[in-house]
Amino acid sequence: MSAISMQAVGKHFGKTDVINNISFDIYDGEFTVFVGPSGCGKSTLLRLIAGLEEVSSGNIVFDDEDVTEWTPAERGVAMVFQSYALYPHMNVYDNMAFGLKLAKKDPQSIRERVEKAAQTLQIGHLLDRKPRELSGGQRQRVAIGRAIVRQPRVFLFDEPLSNLDAALRVQTRLELKRLHADLGTTMIYVTHDQVEAMTLADRIVVLNDGRVEQIGSPLELYRSPCNLFVAGFIGSPK
Ligand code: ADP
Ligand code: MG
Repeated sequence: MSAISMQAVGKHFGKTDVINNISFDIYDGEFTVFVGPSGCGKSTLLRLIAGLEEVSSGNIVFDDEDVTEWTPAERGVAMVFQSYALYPHMNVYDNMAFGLKLAKKDPQSIRERVEKAAQTLQIGHLLDRKPRELSGGQRQRVAIGRAIVRQPRVFLFDEPLSNLDAALRVQTRLELKRLHADLGTTMIYVTHDQVEAMTLADRIVVLNDGRVEQIGSPLELYRSPCNLFVAGFIGSPK
């Protein structure tokens, strides 16, 4: 069974087609990376999956249920963006607990979930701090923690590491891999960085101009690119 099935999905803004008749399946527990040049439609595709944008055509199916008309909350996905968007006046604990409090979860289970996520992300000692007292890397962990406590069926990451310096990016990448191994949750990760795609992905979806050029494991794309675009994009050094 596919966790997510994109079925002839299209999206236009005004007269501009941004996503053109895209179909593919993502399997349960996979780490999938959408990669492609800036402006090719990666963020739009992720927002369609999250329910933050409405499709212009086609259907989106989660676990054999058609969710095309569902709200983001009903879809049960959690999205982590490049800009952390933490609440500046709340400490780390309250930032992570906020969504669960809104959803009226009981205080005991909120505390347990926040503490467990904080432990996983090694930010347990920072729970009393305000966002301004954190480094960029620590803030991004809080943003990831906020997603983890919701226990989503899918994590959606949109270039979450692009504000971090190179060394921290490599480290956080490894931690995301470990997180994926620990949780086993389906994850989709958007990046324009081919190295990031090759190191993180179980499978890569190569996008160009609103279309899928190729889908495959990093090794498959590296060994057997289906066209010059994929060969150039995957093969080109950063
Ligand atoms: P990527 O994330 O790959 O850089 P995006 O999905 O952000 O690409 O954008 C794809 C194209 O859609 C771009 O040409 C962008 O200008 C356009 N676009 C994205 N969102 C909107 C919007 N809300 N209204 C109009 N055009 C948009
Ligand atoms: Mg984008």
